[in-house]
Amino acid sequence: MLKRLPYVATYLLNPSSVLDALWKLLFLSILTTLLTMAVEYLLLLQNRRSAAEYFVVVTLVASPLFGFGMYLTKRMVHLQRQLSRLARTDLLTGLANRRGFFDLVNAEDPGHLALLDIDHFKKINDSYGHAVGDQVLASVAKEIAARVGEHGLVARIGGEEFALHAPTTNEEIAAALINGLTSNFIVKTEDTPIHVTLSAGWVRTQSCLDMTEILHRADEALYMAKQNGRARAEQWKAVTNPTPKMMRHG
Ligand code: GH3
Ligand code: MG
Ligand code: MG
Repeated sequence: MLKRLPYVATYLLNPSSVLDALWKLLFLSILTTLLTMAVEYLLLLQNRRSAAEYFVVVTLVASPLFGFGMYLTKRMVHLQRQLSRLARTDLLTGLANRRGFFDLVNAEDPGHLALLDIDHFKKINDSYGHAVGDQVLASVAKEIAARVGEHGLVARIGGEEFALHAPTTNEEIAAALINGLTSNFIVKTEDTPIHVTLSAGWVRTQSCLDMTEILHRADEALYMAKQNGRARAEQWKAVTNPTPKMMRHG
C-alpha cells in the first residue's frame, strides 16, 4: 500500500483536463478537511468548528498549494517523458537506439529479426572524412526507415549497424523486405554521390530461443553475408551455421 503512494500522489496531482483538475481539487480538499478534523479530535482541542466551516477554510488555504503541486507534477511528468524518449533515441539518425529497440522487441514477438551493417564504412570515413561518414549514416538510416515504413521497427544499434524487427511471419515477405535493404543507397554529398551497400543477417523470432541466441544467430548470418561478398542478406540456417561460433563480422 505504502509503495503505491507515489503513484497515487502523481495520479491525483497530474490532472488530464481542467474538469479533472477541479474534481481532484475537490477530493483533496475533502480529504484534507477530514484529516484536519481527525487531528483536532485526537488532540482533544477545543473550539471545534462545523465540518462546513472546516471545508471552506481548508479549501481556501490548501487549493492554491494543491494547484501549484499540480503544476509542478505536470512539468515533472513531462520532463520525465522527454528524458525517457531521449534515452531511447539515436541523436545522429533519429532512429531508436539499442535500448529503445530492445525495450520494444522481445524474443517471443512473432516475426523476423535482421542485423544490417554498412559495407566498408571505414573506407568512406577514410576517403571523405568523419563528417561525411556521419552524413552517410543519417542518410542511409532515413532511407532504411522509408523502405521499411510500417512493416517493421528499425534502430541504429551500433556505429554503422542497424537492427530491424519485421512482425511478418511470412518468410518470403521478410526476405523481400530485408533483401531490399542491402543495395541502391546513393548519398548525395557536396562533392560526389556515394554508393552504399549493406550486408544483413536475419533469423526468425518467436521460438524457444532467448534474445541473446537470436542475436547470435543473426550475427552469424551477417558474418556469412560478409563472407559471401557483401551487399546481400543471408538467413540463418542450421546447415549454414559457420564453425567459428564466436567470430564477429568486421
Ligand atoms: P565491413 O564491410 O566488414 O563491415 O567493414 P567496415 O569498414 O564497415 O567495418 P569496420 O568495423 O572495419 O569499420 C566500421 C567503422 O565505422 C569504424 C568506425 O570508425 C566507424 N564508425 C562507427 N561509428 C561511427 C559514427 O558514428 N560516425 C562515423 N563517421 N563513423 C563511425
Ligand atoms: Mg560493423
Ligand atoms: Mg561495416
